[in-house]
Amino acid sequence: MNLSQHNIDVILPVVISGSSYLLTCVAMDLLKLVKKEWIIQPKHIMVGQERYDCIVYSLTNLAIGMLGLLLFRFYYLDAITLQECGSNCLFTETLKLIYLLFLADTAFYWSHRFLHIPSVYRIGHKLHHTHTSPISWTALYVHPVEFVLAFGGIFVLPTIFVRTHIVTYTLFLVLNMVSLVVSHSGLHIPYLINARHHDSHHRNFTVDFGSKFTIWDHVMGTISKKSKSKSKSMKDLKI
Ligand SMILES: [Zn+2]
Ligand SMILES: [Zn+2]
Repeated sequence: MNLSQHNIDVILPVVISGSSYLLTCVAMDLLKLVKKEWIIQPKHIMVGQERYDCIVYSLTNLAIGMLGLLLFRFYYLDAITLQECGSNCLFTETLKLIYLLFLADTAFYWSHRFLHIPSVYRIGHKLHHTHTSPISWTALYVHPVEFVLAFGGIFVLPTIFVRTHIVTYTLFLVLNMVSLVVSHSGLHIPYLINARHHDSHHRNFTVDFGSKFTIWDHVMGTISKKSKSKSKSMKDLKI
């Protein structure tokens, strides 16, 4: 592999996934204007300075994250070629993609639980929870401590364990970006990612820690329907 091919393999997935974040945020904002019946908390729509600050913070984190991802891929690029992939490439890469998404969801759930330990919460996660009615841009409205933990856990850690083709890796990044944005959008879009789940977490704090999937919430009994009695706000907990 020559240097230019290496650079393309490093840059393309990052540019495509970064663009997917921006496009999904804008698409969700536009959708909110035309599908008001899909808004989960219609009485609490973020506007004005709070919304502006959120967008600026989110874009700054996106730029930092994309730069970090570029450096990681530049020095750690370990993509497999089509020849290495073999005749069952489509099948094996699909399995790897599902496995990667599961690993990322697991990293999200457990790093999220860690961020809710009261002493850690005060330092790292409280900022994200100032939005009890999140908007798409809230997805990256996070403190640097949370950013390193969650962003690293979702986007970097799983790919260290699983070698994939560059297309699989790009799809993995894009699906994570889109699900992060949609789950924060405050819109319940029928047949799409269940945004009500994460929206509920932003209101109730101590339940519904998962993002894309709800597997770990079911396994650990932190799904809100099952544990409403446990559901308290961080204010109730005096944090
Ligand atoms: Zn959130
Ligand atoms: Zn949280």
